[in-house]
Amino acid sequence: MEYEFETVNCNLCNADNYQKISNKGKFGLPTNVVICKVCGLSYLNPRWDKNSYLQFYQNEYDKYYRPKIQLDSSLNKEAVNPIEVRLKRLDLFPKNVERILDIGSGEGNNLIHFKSIFQESKLYAIEPSLASQIILKNNDVTILGSDVDAEWNDNINYKFDLIIMRHVLEHFTDPIKIMKKVRSVLKPNGIVYIAVPNNLKPTQNLNKSWFRNVHTYYFNKYTLDNLNKLVGLEILKMQEGDEFNMGEVYLIARKNDSQLSPVFSEKHYQEQLTILNQKLKLENSIPYKLTYLSKRVIRKVLSLTKNKSH
Ligand SMILES: [Zn+2]
Repeated sequence: MEYEFETVNCNLCNADNYQKISNKGKFGLPTNVVICKVCGLSYLNPRWDKNSYLQFYQNEYDKYYRPKIQLDSSLNKEAVNPIEVRLKRLDLFPKNVERILDIGSGEGNNLIHFKSIFQESKLYAIEPSLASQIILKNNDVTILGSDVDAEWNDNINYKFDLIIMRHVLEHFTDPIKIMKKVRSVLKPNGIVYIAVPNNLKPTQNLNKSWFRNVHTYYFNKYTLDNLNKLVGLEILKMQEGDEFNMGEVYLIARKNDSQLSPVFSEKHYQEQLTILNQKLKLENSIPYKLTYLSKRVIRKVLSLTKNKSH
Protein backbone atom coordinates (compact mmCIF):
# COMPACT_ATOMS: atom_id res chain seq x y z
CA MET A 1 0.00 0.00 0.00
CA GLU A 2 1.33 3.40 -1.04
CA TYR A 3 0.24 6.22 1.22
CA GLU A 4 -0.13 9.69 -0.32
CA PHE A 5 0.32 12.97 1.58
CA GLU A 6 -1.59 16.24 1.51
CA THR A 7 -1.18 19.65 3.17
CA VAL A 8 -4.14 21.27 4.94
CA ASN A 9 -5.14 24.61 6.43
CA CYS A 10 -6.41 24.90 10.00
CA ASN A 11 -9.85 23.27 10.18
CA LEU A 12 -11.22 25.88 12.60
CA CYS A 13 -9.89 29.26 11.45
CA ASN A 14 -8.68 28.28 7.94
CA ALA A 15 -5.27 29.91 8.53
CA ASP A 16 -2.11 28.46 7.00
CA ASN A 17 0.09 29.78 9.80
CA TYR A 18 1.51 27.13 12.07
CA GLN A 19 4.37 26.11 14.35
CA LYS A 20 5.93 22.68 13.81
CA ILE A 21 6.07 20.63 17.02
CA SER A 22 7.15 17.10 16.12
CA ASN A 23 7.49 14.66 13.25
CA LYS A 24 7.54 11.52 15.40
CA GLY A 25 4.61 9.41 16.55
CA LYS A 26 3.41 5.99 17.68
CA PHE A 27 4.65 2.94 15.75
CA GLY A 28 7.09 5.19 13.86
CA LEU A 29 4.36 6.07 11.33
CA PRO A 30 4.56 9.57 9.76
CA THR A 31 3.19 12.11 12.28
CA ASN A 32 3.81 15.81 11.57
CA VAL A 33 2.26 17.70 14.50
CA VAL A 34 1.78 21.47 14.16
CA ILE A 35 -0.10 24.14 16.14
CA CYS A 36 -2.12 26.86 14.41
CA LYS A 37 -0.68 30.21 15.50
CA VAL A 38 -4.02 31.95 15.04
CA CYS A 39 -6.38 29.73 17.07
CA GLY A 40 -4.17 27.17 18.84
CA LEU A 41 -5.57 24.03 17.17
CA SER A 42 -3.02 21.21 16.97
CA TYR A 43 -3.19 19.04 13.86
CA LEU A 44 -1.17 16.95 11.43
CA ASN A 45 0.29 18.78 8.44
CA PRO A 46 1.25 17.38 6.01
CA ARG A 47 -0.72 14.19 6.60
CA TRP A 48 -1.95 11.15 4.67
CA ASP A 49 -4.72 12.00 2.23
CA LYS A 50 -8.31 10.82 2.68
CA ASN A 51 -7.93 7.70 0.55
CA SER A 52 -4.78 6.61 2.35
CA TYR A 53 -6.53 6.87 5.72
CA LEU A 54 -9.57 4.98 4.47
CA GLN A 55 -7.35 2.13 3.25
CA PHE A 56 -5.48 2.14 6.55
CA TYR A 57 -8.68 1.98 8.67
CA GLN A 58 -10.17 -0.84 6.62
CA ASN A 59 -7.08 -3.00 6.41
CA GLU A 60 -4.45 -2.06 8.98
CA TYR A 61 -6.03 -0.23 11.92
CA ASP A 62 -7.19 -3.25 13.91
CA LYS A 63 -3.78 -4.88 13.57
CA TYR A 64 -2.11 -1.85 15.18
CA TYR A 65 -4.73 -0.62 17.61
CA ARG A 66 -7.24 -3.42 18.27
CA PRO A 67 -5.16 -6.60 18.38
CA LYS A 68 -7.65 -8.31 20.71
CA ILE A 69 -10.81 -7.95 18.65
CA GLN A 70 -13.27 -10.68 19.69
CA LEU A 71 -15.60 -12.26 17.17
CA ASP A 72 -17.64 -13.95 19.91
CA SER A 73 -18.09 -10.67 21.78
CA SER A 74 -19.56 -11.83 25.10
CA LEU A 75 -20.10 -8.45 26.68
CA ASN A 76 -20.47 -7.96 30.39
CA LYS A 77 -23.59 -5.81 30.59
CA GLU A 78 -23.03 -5.14 34.28
CA ALA A 79 -19.72 -3.40 33.58
CA VAL A 80 -19.44 0.27 34.53
CA ASN A 81 -19.95 2.44 31.46
CA PRO A 82 -18.12 5.78 31.70
CA ILE A 83 -20.58 7.54 29.36
CA GLU A 84 -23.57 6.53 31.49
CA VAL A 85 -21.80 7.53 34.71
CA ARG A 86 -20.73 10.90 33.30
CA LEU A 87 -24.14 11.78 31.87
CA LYS A 88 -25.79 10.96 35.20
CA ARG A 89 -23.18 12.84 37.22
CA LEU A 90 -23.69 15.94 35.06
CA ASP A 91 -27.46 15.57 35.37
CA LEU A 92 -27.80 15.21 31.59
CA PHE A 93 -28.83 11.58 31.34
CA PRO A 94 -31.63 11.36 28.73
CA LYS A 95 -35.06 10.26 29.97
CA ASN A 96 -36.23 8.62 26.81
CA VAL A 97 -34.12 7.35 23.93
CA GLU A 98 -35.54 5.98 20.69
CA ARG A 99 -32.48 6.08 18.48
CA ILE A 100 -28.78 6.04 19.30
CA LEU A 101 -25.96 6.60 16.83
CA ASP A 102 -22.36 5.73 17.68
CA ILE A 103 -19.83 7.20 15.26
CA GLY A 104 -16.70 5.05 15.27
CA SER A 105 -18.43 2.49 17.46
CA GLY A 106 -15.83 -0.24 17.17
CA GLU A 107 -17.48 -3.48 18.26
CA GLY A 108 -20.47 -1.54 19.66
CA ASN A 109 -19.96 -1.93 23.41
CA ASN A 110 -21.50 1.47 24.18
CA LEU A 111 -24.52 0.86 21.95
CA ILE A 112 -25.18 -2.52 23.52
CA HIS A 113 -24.82 -1.04 26.99
CA PHE A 114 -27.38 1.70 26.29
CA LYS A 115 -29.72 -0.84 24.72
CA SER A 116 -29.76 -2.61 28.10
CA ILE A 117 -31.07 0.64 29.64
CA PHE A 118 -33.35 1.78 26.80
CA GLN A 119 -34.60 -1.61 25.68
CA GLU A 120 -36.92 -0.30 22.94
CA SER A 121 -34.20 1.82 21.35
CA LYS A 122 -32.81 1.28 17.86
CA LEU A 123 -29.05 1.21 17.40
CA TYR A 124 -27.01 2.73 14.56
CA ALA A 125 -23.31 2.94 13.82
CA ILE A 126 -20.77 4.33 11.41
CA GLU A 127 -17.71 2.11 11.54
CA PRO A 128 -14.95 1.45 8.99
CA SER A 129 -13.50 -1.77 10.48
CA LEU A 130 -14.88 -4.77 8.60
CA ALA A 131 -14.26 -7.08 11.57
CA SER A 132 -16.25 -4.75 13.85
CA GLN A 133 -19.07 -4.50 11.29
CA ILE A 134 -19.66 -8.25 11.56
CA ILE A 135 -20.05 -7.99 15.34
CA LEU A 136 -22.34 -4.96 15.01
CA LYS A 137 -24.64 -6.76 12.58
CA ASN A 138 -24.82 -9.73 14.95
CA ASN A 139 -26.07 -7.33 17.63
CA ASP A 140 -28.85 -5.79 15.50
CA VAL A 141 -26.99 -2.55 14.91
CA THR A 142 -27.84 -0.76 11.64
CA ILE A 143 -24.64 0.32 9.91
CA LEU A 144 -25.17 3.69 8.23
CA GLY A 145 -21.81 3.49 6.50
CA SER A 146 -18.14 2.79 6.87
CA ASP A 147 -16.94 6.29 6.01
CA VAL A 148 -17.99 9.23 8.17
CA ASP A 149 -17.07 11.61 5.33
CA ALA A 150 -19.54 9.94 2.96
CA GLU A 151 -23.16 11.17 2.65
CA TRP A 152 -24.52 8.79 5.31
CA ASN A 153 -26.96 11.46 6.53
CA ASP A 154 -28.68 12.03 3.16
CA ASN A 155 -31.02 9.06 3.06
CA ILE A 156 -32.27 8.85 6.63
CA ASN A 157 -35.70 10.19 7.58
CA TYR A 158 -35.30 10.08 11.35
CA LYS A 159 -33.18 11.87 13.94
CA PHE A 160 -31.27 10.80 17.02
CA ASP A 161 -31.77 11.32 20.75
CA LEU A 162 -28.18 10.43 21.55
CA ILE A 163 -25.07 10.53 19.38
CA ILE A 164 -21.89 9.07 20.83
CA MET A 165 -18.50 10.19 19.55
CA ARG A 166 -15.98 8.56 21.84
CA HIS A 167 -12.41 9.18 20.70
CA VAL A 168 -13.27 9.66 17.03
CA LEU A 169 -13.23 13.42 16.45
CA GLU A 170 -9.43 13.41 16.63
CA HIS A 171 -9.36 10.91 13.73
CA PHE A 172 -11.43 12.94 11.25
CA THR A 173 -10.05 14.63 8.15
CA ASP A 174 -12.62 17.46 8.34
CA PRO A 175 -14.15 17.80 11.84
CA ILE A 176 -16.19 20.93 10.99
CA LYS A 177 -17.88 19.27 8.02
CA ILE A 178 -18.72 16.14 10.00
CA MET A 179 -20.02 18.02 13.04
CA LYS A 180 -22.41 19.94 10.77
CA LYS A 181 -23.79 16.59 9.59
CA VAL A 182 -24.03 15.41 13.19
CA ARG A 183 -26.01 18.53 14.09
CA SER A 184 -28.36 17.92 11.15
CA VAL A 185 -29.38 14.48 12.45
CA LEU A 186 -29.86 15.48 16.11
CA LYS A 187 -33.37 15.83 17.51
CA PRO A 188 -34.16 19.30 18.92
CA ASN A 189 -33.61 17.95 22.43
CA GLY A 190 -31.05 15.34 21.41
CA ILE A 191 -27.56 15.36 22.82
CA VAL A 192 -24.14 14.56 21.46
CA TYR A 193 -21.42 13.12 23.70
CA ILE A 194 -17.87 13.86 22.59
CA ALA A 195 -14.69 12.60 24.26
CA VAL A 196 -11.17 13.19 22.94
CA PRO A 197 -7.60 13.15 24.29
CA ASN A 198 -6.92 16.46 26.09
CA ASN A 199 -3.95 18.07 24.40
CA LEU A 200 -3.49 20.44 27.35
CA LYS A 201 -2.92 17.43 29.65
CA PRO A 202 -1.13 14.74 27.65
CA THR A 203 -0.74 11.63 29.82
CA GLN A 204 1.57 9.61 27.57
CA ASN A 205 4.98 10.02 26.00
CA LEU A 206 4.34 12.45 23.13
CA ASN A 207 6.55 10.98 20.42
CA LYS A 208 6.05 7.33 21.36
CA SER A 209 2.32 7.26 22.04
CA TRP A 210 0.35 10.52 22.32
CA PHE A 211 1.14 11.70 18.80
CA ARG A 212 -0.07 9.14 16.28
CA ASN A 213 -0.66 9.33 12.57
CA VAL A 214 -4.33 8.34 12.95
CA HIS A 215 -4.87 11.36 15.22
CA THR A 216 -5.19 14.10 12.63
CA TYR A 217 -6.34 16.60 15.31
CA TYR A 218 -5.38 17.23 18.97
CA PHE A 219 -8.16 19.14 20.69
CA ASN A 220 -8.40 20.98 24.00
CA LYS A 221 -11.16 22.90 25.81
CA TYR A 222 -10.59 26.04 23.71
CA THR A 223 -10.59 24.37 20.32
CA LEU A 224 -13.58 22.17 21.23
CA ASP A 225 -15.46 25.28 22.28
CA ASN A 226 -14.71 26.95 18.94
CA LEU A 227 -15.60 23.85 16.95
CA ASN A 228 -19.01 23.56 18.60
CA LYS A 229 -19.71 27.27 18.16
CA LEU A 230 -18.79 27.13 14.47
CA VAL A 231 -21.24 24.30 13.73
CA GLY A 232 -24.19 25.59 15.77
CA LEU A 233 -23.88 23.35 18.81
CA GLU A 234 -24.12 24.57 22.38
CA ILE A 235 -21.90 22.91 24.98
CA LEU A 236 -23.99 22.09 28.06
CA LYS A 237 -21.10 20.72 30.13
CA MET A 238 -17.40 20.14 29.48
CA GLN A 239 -14.96 18.36 31.83
CA GLU A 240 -11.22 17.75 31.80
CA GLY A 241 -10.38 14.30 33.13
CA ASP A 242 -11.82 12.09 35.87
CA GLU A 243 -11.30 8.66 37.41
CA PHE A 244 -11.93 6.95 34.07
CA ASN A 245 -9.31 8.87 32.10
CA MET A 246 -7.21 11.76 33.37
CA GLY A 247 -5.97 12.62 29.89
CA GLU A 248 -9.37 13.13 28.34
CA VAL A 249 -11.67 16.09 27.79
CA TYR A 250 -15.36 15.32 27.26
CA LEU A 251 -18.50 17.33 26.64
CA ILE A 252 -22.22 17.10 26.10
CA ALA A 253 -23.76 19.44 23.54
CA ARG A 254 -27.10 20.08 21.88
CA LYS A 255 -28.38 22.04 18.90
CA ASN A 256 -28.24 25.78 19.16
CA ASP A 257 -30.50 28.01 17.07
CA SER A 258 -28.06 30.83 16.58
CA GLN A 259 -24.46 30.38 15.53
CA LEU A 260 -22.13 31.62 18.26
CA SER A 261 -18.92 33.49 17.41
CA PRO A 262 -15.68 31.56 17.92
CA VAL A 263 -12.81 33.09 19.88
CA PHE A 264 -9.50 32.77 18.04
CA SER A 265 -6.86 33.84 20.52
CA GLU A 266 -3.07 33.90 20.37
CA LYS A 267 -3.14 33.13 24.12
CA HIS A 268 -4.65 29.73 23.35
CA TYR A 269 -1.80 29.09 20.92
CA GLN A 270 0.82 30.14 23.47
CA GLU A 271 -0.67 27.95 26.22
CA GLN A 272 -0.75 24.90 23.95
CA LEU A 273 2.77 25.56 22.67
CA THR A 274 4.21 25.90 26.19
CA ILE A 275 2.65 22.66 27.42
CA LEU A 276 3.87 20.57 24.47
CA ASN A 277 7.36 22.11 24.45
CA GLN A 278 7.79 21.57 28.20
CA LYS A 279 6.72 17.95 27.92
CA LEU A 280 8.99 17.30 24.91
CA LYS A 281 11.90 18.84 26.82
CA LEU A 282 11.20 16.66 29.86
CA GLU A 283 10.96 13.54 27.71
CA ASN A 284 14.38 14.30 26.25
CA SER A 285 16.06 14.46 29.65
CA ILE A 286 18.22 11.50 30.76
CA PRO A 287 16.34 10.77 34.05
CA TYR A 288 13.01 10.61 32.17
CA LYS A 289 14.43 8.30 29.52
CA LEU A 290 15.86 5.95 32.17
CA THR A 291 12.56 5.83 34.08
CA TYR A 292 10.62 5.26 30.85
CA LEU A 293 12.93 2.44 29.81
CA SER A 294 12.88 0.68 33.20
CA LYS A 295 9.06 0.84 33.32
CA ARG A 296 8.92 -0.84 29.93
CA VAL A 297 11.32 -3.57 31.03
CA ILE A 298 9.28 -4.24 34.19
CA ARG A 299 6.05 -4.43 32.18
CA LYS A 300 7.66 -6.85 29.71
CA VAL A 301 8.95 -9.10 32.50
CA LEU A 302 5.55 -9.08 34.23
CA SER A 303 3.73 -10.01 31.02
CA LEU A 304 6.19 -12.86 30.39
CA THR A 305 5.75 -14.34 33.88
CA LYS A 306 1.96 -13.94 33.57
CA ASN A 307 1.92 -15.86 30.27
CA LYS A 308 4.06 -18.65 31.78
CA SER A 309 1.65 -19.19 34.65
CA HIS A 310 -1.20 -19.97 32.22
ZN1 LIG B 1 -6.53 27.88 13.43
